Amino acid sequence: MAKKAEKDNITPVEIDTEQIDFRTLAEDAPVMLWLTNSTGENIFSNSIYKNFIGRENVEQQGGTAWFNALHPDDQQMCIDIFSDAFQTHKAFDMEYRLKRRDGEYRYILDRGEPYIDRHGKFSGFIGSSTDISDRKTSEDDLLKSHQELMQYNHEMSLINQLNSYLQVCRTLPETYPVISHYADQIFPNWCGSLYLFDESKTLVEAMTSWGNKPLKSSEVIAPDDCWALRQGKEHIALDMENRLSCNHVHDEIGSYTCVPIIAQGEMLGMLHMEYCCGSITFETTEEKQRYFDSRQRLMKIAADNLALSLVSLNLREALKHQSIRDPLTSLFNRRYMEECLQMEISKSARSGGGLGVIMSDIDHFKKFNDTYGHDAGDLVLVEFAKLLTKSFRESDIICRFGGEEFIIIMPAASQELVLERANKMCNKVREFEIFYDNKLLPSVTSSFGVSYLSDDFEHASQIVKLADTALYKAKNAGRDQVMLYEELENDDNEGLLRR
Ligand code: GH3
Ligand code: MG
Ligand code: MG
Repeated sequence: MAKKAEKDNITPVEIDTEQIDFRTLAEDAPVMLWLTNSTGENIFSNSIYKNFIGRENVEQQGGTAWFNALHPDDQQMCIDIFSDAFQTHKAFDMEYRLKRRDGEYRYILDRGEPYIDRHGKFSGFIGSSTDISDRKTSEDDLLKSHQELMQYNHEMSLINQLNSYLQVCRTLPETYPVISHYADQIFPNWCGSLYLFDESKTLVEAMTSWGNKPLKSSEVIAPDDCWALRQGKEHIALDMENRLSCNHVHDEIGSYTCVPIIAQGEMLGMLHMEYCCGSITFETTEEKQRYFDSRQRLMKIAADNLALSLVSLNLREALKHQSIRDPLTSLFNRRYMEECLQMEISKSARSGGGLGVIMSDIDHFKKFNDTYGHDAGDLVLVEFAKLLTKSFRESDIICRFGGEEFIIIMPAASQELVLERANKMCNKVREFEIFYDNKLLPSVTSSFGVSYLSDDFEHASQIVKLADTALYKAKNAGRDQVMLYEELENDDNEGLLRR
């Protein structure tokens, strides 16, 4: 002992184990005390110690009662520290789990000091054992809360990152890869999907998914098939409970959750999450419950954040739609067409691909309106627009130029294709049947003027005007026909470009 005691300027303890005084004193001490001989054998344990391990155990097992009460995982560590102490004769500390007489393992802190006999010879260790379980538990709890806080900070920072990406997304489809990328990181042991209502608001559809397993939930869901959508609040189905499952999930699904995405009182869709276990193990049911509670809170935060981003994106899309679309036909408006035309002309000039412009004007539309009424006229315009949308490619830009006039820009198309499309459209219009008030309206016709840009871009900005000139010619030639600007051999508009 000597070393530690000398260092602290304390006289080394000299105990004569024969001395009855020591034993009497130690026996009733309020801490667990013990004594070994020089070979490590236990030669004394006080009353409180024996009570801890259980008197019957001590009586039956004698000196080995302590060793037998050690937690199996801690036995080797204790042997190692003990052996070392008996070799070096130095004071030691050790923490281990010891089985109390009621069977519960408690954390014990042992402090052992070497003692010498009156001849200065090492005689063994004298030590105390303190139950530090309560302190250990609060230390563990503190560590756990610290880890949880760190985890929470990390998750919140990912949610913030997700938000800042969503804020710069221009369209809904742009958000999908962003959402799945972050959902994967925020919920590492979960698979999931973002469901959004379709335009008619009758079904929700899986728009994007994440996780490394196929989902056990249908791609398209009627709102009545999901408890979360029905109630407007999260539905939690954990496998440890006697649970209620939604109709949209398959029978073999494990723990899952559906969280509705609600913004400004409007339900936009829901977040569906399935627990895929991964590498997580839970020691107790409480621990598992705590984990699922924390995931639940996080999903709610994620759903609320998504709701805000999606609603502002919807608003932005609606505003954008309003600024570039004609309200009656939903086709692009004239201003947007003019912007696009400039871009398409530059693209064609760079790539060398041709560019066609078709201008169309419904024949005698004033008379049609006068005869059948303005509402019937509006219906004709709407149906005409739908027919245009169906008849051209997605890359073609279809716009309502004004009144009953329409323009179609066809980038990267040959002159033959542009003419063919215009002629087809001219024929389709003539044969088009439109019902108004359950009555078939008389067919309308339309005239078409076509202009085409192939390699001469000098007068590109006049391409619409050229199509208008061709249209004017088509009208003059009797309407219900297609005229190409190049065909205007004897054009009276001398100032206009001719190729
Ligand atoms: P043309 O064959 O020479 O083109 O004769 P038109 O009667 O079609 O030509 P005009 O330019 O004289 O008349 C265009 C008509 O289109 C006037 C108006 O009654 C109608 N029109 C324009 N915009 C709308 C609209 O938004 N709704 C309805 N119902 N009619 C419209
Ligand atoms: Mg007109
Ligand atoms: Mg007209």
